[in-house]
Amino acid sequence: MKKLGLLGGMSWESSIHYESLIHRHVQATLGGVHSADLIIRSVDFADIEALQAQGAWAEAGEVLAHEASTLEKAGAEAIVLCTNTMHKVAPAIEKALSVPLLHIVDPTAAAIARAGLSTIALIGTAYTMEDPFYSDRLATHQIESITPDKAERDEIQRIIYDELVRGIISDTSRTFLLSAIADLIRKGAQGVIAGCTEIELLVTPSDVTVPYFPTTELHAQAAAAWALS
Ligand code: GLU
Repeated sequence: MKKLGLLGGMSWESSIHYESLIHRHVQATLGGVHSADLIIRSVDFADIEALQAQGAWAEAGEVLAHEASTLEKAGAEAIVLCTNTMHKVAPAIEKALSVPLLHIVDPTAAAIARAGLSTIALIGTAYTMEDPFYSDRLATHQIESITPDKAERDEIQRIIYDELVRGIISDTSRTFLLSAIADLIRKGAQGVIAGCTEIELLVTPSDVTVPYFPTTELHAQAAAAWALS
């Protein structure tokens, strides 16, 4: 089994699920008392969130590239960046590494393709929904993503940063997200990407009427499978 480096804390509310999902996948595959071989680095999200808010993406990229290479030096054979949004700086991180960065979009796109879908609702931070880094990567897998309108995107951003990354789970916010998702289904979305690692803590597959793609779960499963490959 290969050793994975988890770069998390963005936020820790979802990172803790990455760890347990990876362990459960390894245990289910190998049986006995097996668990994953992990090195974990959890950053202070306040530092990263401040850089996001300032638009200081180059600096955020330098910080995460440094942390990822620390994991590599410690023995990680691949890096798992436990957030969708910070994949915006994936190229800077990859440049600093000689081991692979297991990109979150790839297992998500693979699951969408397996389901035979090509038009998908993308729900995540404003950065993920508005910056092309995410939709362009989906497009390389022949998947077109559609996003809510500006007022809805702003409210989803507020729900993520004021509630979900602080561990607040609100029925009102779940209802809001489900209504935004229903709008996108009416506009042609055949499925939904929970494109923020905390969204699946609020909205579960049984809440939606179309196939649901939870990125924390898909990314963690892919990482575990890679470690076992
Ligand atoms: N965890 C979130 C994501 O998947 C948002 C927090 C962050 O900005 O990293 O995008």
